[in-house]
Amino acid sequence: MHIILMGPPGAGKGTQAEKLVEEFKVRHISTGDMFRAAVKAGTELGKEAKKYMDAGGLVPDVVTIGIVRESLSKPECKEGFMLDGFPRTLEQAEALDGILKELGIELDGVVNISVPDAELVGRVTGRRICRSCGATFHVSFNPSRVEGVCDKCGGSLYQRDDDSEATVKNRLAAYHAQTEPLIAYYKQQGVYKGIDGLQAIDKVYADVKASLGK
Ligand SMILES: [Zn+2]
Repeated sequence: MHIILMGPPGAGKGTQAEKLVEEFKVRHISTGDMFRAAVKAGTELGKEAKKYMDAGGLVPDVVTIGIVRESLSKPECKEGFMLDGFPRTLEQAEALDGILKELGIELDGVVNISVPDAELVGRVTGRRICRSCGATFHVSFNPSRVEGVCDKCGGSLYQRDDDSEATVKNRLAAYHAQTEPLIAYYKQQGVYKGIDGLQAIDKVYADVKASLGK
């Protein structure tokens, strides 16, 4: 199975990815993993990417695409992969098509777990994390017994800066601007699988599998 997994922050993409890996033993490949592997292996592209990462900048497309090509060329990827966090732009999607063609791989699906923004904002801004043990809670879906206090260790709970409403809205706006063209692109190719992420986790997973003919 060769798939691309997409979804905005808070849509539960990570949970679905875990389930797919567990059931289908599919290789989960994120851009971060690919960068780290290339840097560790000391490939020319890895060294190039490290320069940008060390400087705190974005790795340019030409380097990113090169690293994706290296990663996907590994024999174990022939059997299957689940790409996560790539492609992010139309240019990257077109480059990926070229790579897949070279490798003789066809995509089984581009799975996009979608959830309305208002729901995502609620999910993300309600997260609370324990300062002491790192346990996570949610003010509505998984509240601690005492507000602001960790059930496990009694530590104090806080909201990460990343989870503030303004930050989440900005991230969602950036996400949509980036992804809309990809959705249109993959719809046109006939591989797009839109999944309703508002359902219970198991129902979402059942839909993901059904969309892939599994
Ligand atoms: Zn705790």
